[in-house]
Amino acid sequence: MNGRSNGYLVLYEGAQEPSGYKSYCTACGQRNYRPVADNGNLCGVCRRPARKDYPTTHMRVVTYPGRGVDMDQDYEDWSLDGLRARVRLIQDFDRLADLIVAEAVWMANNCTIEEETYMVEKRRRVMVSGE
Ligand SMILES: [Zn+2]
Repeated sequence: MNGRSNGYLVLYEGAQEPSGYKSYCTACGQRNYRPVADNGNLCGVCRRPARKDYPTTHMRVVTYPGRGVDMDQDYEDWSLDGLRARVRLIQDFDRLADLIVAEAVWMANNCTIEEETYMVEKRRRVMVSGE
């Protein structure tokens, strides 16, 4: 989503790359760059013994902001298969946009905004005397 208040959708070029995460906490979702074999299964955030290694290489999606999918494209020399694939991609993107609009309309018609108070737990370091 781009623009002020995420006003419009842009289909960016993207890719997947290894995230570097080796394990995660099954209780709170915290990710860790070290495998369980290195430092045990105790989670550093929620303190529960619930860390597990990812069974396969954990990947993350990266996008190239400013590189819209059809920027600077000249379709003159595209193959028919390439053009068909591009049409399917744009149709998928179009359906996604329709679903987002339908969801926003549903929320506007069925939801209200209410205030709630919540507490944020924070950790800090404090000085403690040795005596
Ligand atoms: Zn945890």
